[in-house]
Amino acid sequence: MAGPSKRPAARGQRSAPLGAAAATPFLHLETEQPAYGPSPAPLAGAELPSFCYHLGAVAPKTFNGGTAKEANVEGFPVSDKLAGVYMTLEPGALRELHWHANAAEWAYVIEGRCRVTTIDPLGLSEIVDFGPGDVWYFPRGHGHSIQGIGPGTCTFILVFDNGYFSEFGTFSISDWLGHTPADVLARNFGLPVATFADFPKSEVYIATGPVPAPLPQEARPGSLNQVPLTHRYQLLAQAPERFAGGTMRVVSEREFPISSTMTGALLVIKPGGLRELHWHPNAAEWQYYLKGNGRMTVFGSNGRARTDDFAAGDVGYVPQGFGHYIENTGDTDLEIVLVLNNATYQSISITSWMSSTPDLLLATNFKVPEATFAAFPKGEVVMPEQD
Ligand code: MN
Ligand code: MN
Repeated sequence: MAGPSKRPAARGQRSAPLGAAAATPFLHLETEQPAYGPSPAPLAGAELPSFCYHLGAVAPKTFNGGTAKEANVEGFPVSDKLAGVYMTLEPGALRELHWHANAAEWAYVIEGRCRVTTIDPLGLSEIVDFGPGDVWYFPRGHGHSIQGIGPGTCTFILVFDNGYFSEFGTFSISDWLGHTPADVLARNFGLPVATFADFPKSEVYIATGPVPAPLPQEARPGSLNQVPLTHRYQLLAQAPERFAGGTMRVVSEREFPISSTMTGALLVIKPGGLRELHWHPNAAEWQYYLKGNGRMTVFGSNGRARTDDFAAGDVGYVPQGFGHYIENTGDTDLEIVLVLNNATYQSISITSWMSSTPDLLLATNFKVPEATFAAFPKGEVVMPEQD
């Protein structure tokens, strides 16, 4: 079936009804605000670990038609809430029908084009094409496939809301059917046993084949034919928020309703620019450095701060609630894809906090004259210029 299926809007599905919250207050609180237990081992020491993982330097696993390499807790132990995969597909190459038992999948297409198919528990499917700057989201456990449709290589970043995720431990259709007796398959499909004689006996992962024909038609962005829960969001088509030091595009559940566990953003910091001191109360932040050179400092309480330099191809990570800022240290734009493991974007900045605090209180807090604060900015700055 070509084109998106009709399905009901489901903005309210994520939240429990108010009555349910009252009946099970602890369960409700747990979903809203997980208990903050002992610090994970990588964050428990006197010094903070590195928050940079050089994914660009990792040799990819190569397949006929594509490549993949991943960043997860195995190589980057601090990133326990989010994992990522850098993948390429040649024209016609198919990342086969599969699902993930332990994570939802968010993606950003860097270059090239690909076609995605999906299936959900209501039996609704969507077939839609993606290009540079497009984002997809597959809820945990939903089936999907990705095929390069050319021209040229399609390159994308996948982000999963579980640091223990492994792309090489997912549930592939060829793996399952290959490990199911042919007589069971025959009964399942109501077909002769011989039908399955030539089916693969192990996981295909990436298959090669012809580039499919163009889709008959696509709903135009903004048209009445757009399904409410489409899997595609065209992030680069969004008018960015503009600041003195750069731009930001955010795609949360508000802009992209199906994205019920993650928020993404495309951050561009101009040369000399700074993403100001801030933190995210409700999420960890996973980063992929697309272009340029940057430097991030993470504040981890108890006198601990860690600074790492980043270049294109690097992955960064900020634990939930940890303070951080990012500087462009190069002479070209610094472009970063950010993904947070919460559908609602929340950020608190130092400038916003201090500008809403009385100067006398700040004077007492910092042990400096009250007049010091007269010149401080009022409101959030987000990305000031620096010279
Ligand atoms: Mn997948
Ligand atoms: Mn941040």
